[in-house]
Amino acid sequence: MSARTRSRAAAAVVTGGTGFLGSHLCEALLDAGRPVVCIDNLVTGAAENVAHLQARSGFTLLRQDISDGIEVGADVAADIDLVLHLASPASPPDYLRLPLETLRVGSEGTRHALELAARHGARFLMASTSEVYGDPLEHPQRESYHGNVDPVGPRAVYDEAKRFAEAMTAAYRSSRRVDTTIARIFNTYGPRMRADDGRVVPTFILQGLEGRPLTVAGDGSQTRSLCHVSDTVRGLLALAASGHPGPVNIGGTGELTVLEIAEVVRRATGGRSAVVHIDLPVGDPRQRCPDTALAREVLGWAPEVGLDEGLAETVQWFHHRRAA
Ligand code: UDP
Repeated sequence: MSARTRSRAAAAVVTGGTGFLGSHLCEALLDAGRPVVCIDNLVTGAAENVAHLQARSGFTLLRQDISDGIEVGADVAADIDLVLHLASPASPPDYLRLPLETLRVGSEGTRHALELAARHGARFLMASTSEVYGDPLEHPQRESYHGNVDPVGPRAVYDEAKRFAEAMTAAYRSSRRVDTTIARIFNTYGPRMRADDGRVVPTFILQGLEGRPLTVAGDGSQTRSLCHVSDTVRGLLALAASGHPGPVNIGGTGELTVLEIAEVVRRATGGRSAVVHIDLPVGDPRQRCPDTALAREVLGWAPEVGLDEGLAETVQWFHHRRAA
């Protein structure tokens, strides 16, 4: 190790760092003065999401498939004290298109990320999901709820991959003494979502901006609770900086039906669109809202960005992107 590398601050590694959430996390870490190693295979992420970070000192993008292994040479980062493991297809159409890849990154990818943390004595944050609760029978969902997942249902490739990843994270904590934590992230929205990722917010925004009907699945009575990406990132960084082992829910608490979400987006995009109903996807959870008491208590965290404000910013971003 050269004197030059030794003198550098310890780096944070973000797997899945070119994705929607990962790219915002990389940016927030750099803003906090931390060197960042962003690792991604660019299957569902995009180098474009971190293009504005490439010129910043302390930022490195490595194109690697973490399911095959992770290689961070000492020339890139001699010291790593934090591994944030976000790599995975995350939208239902993406993980349904990539079922085996999703299972593999949740298992092998997670093992490689945990090994990296173990090698460096780094803290490890597993980016888990509200999907571990499946189609929840407890509402709102507390961290103590064990979930209702169909292991052979269409969403199982994602839900079970994340459940397995949580189990592996807990096992590395107990058997290998890695300082781990688990965030269960609920529906997050904001700039840099992929227009075609199929999720409700970008889909409705694009439809609204183009004056096309908003495609509400089923009767639209199923619920989701949306959280702006800046709040989610703040929650993840607070959890990483804490000593808490998790799991901790990170999500918005303003529960809305999908029909209500359609109405809010319709207004935010000029109010020209009608609503049409499409088939409800198989296994679509009926209700979803986090109990965030634990995050409040142990992290002092609560969402701050209101839906109107957050959506207005997101609509602007999609508007400018379309224009460009
Ligand atoms: N949804 C919808 N119309 C769309 C896309 C999604 O009504 O064009 C619904 C979807 O069926 C689900 C909710 O919106 O009930 C949230 O879906 P999303 O894919 O954003 O995330 P999920 O919470 O299901 O992972």
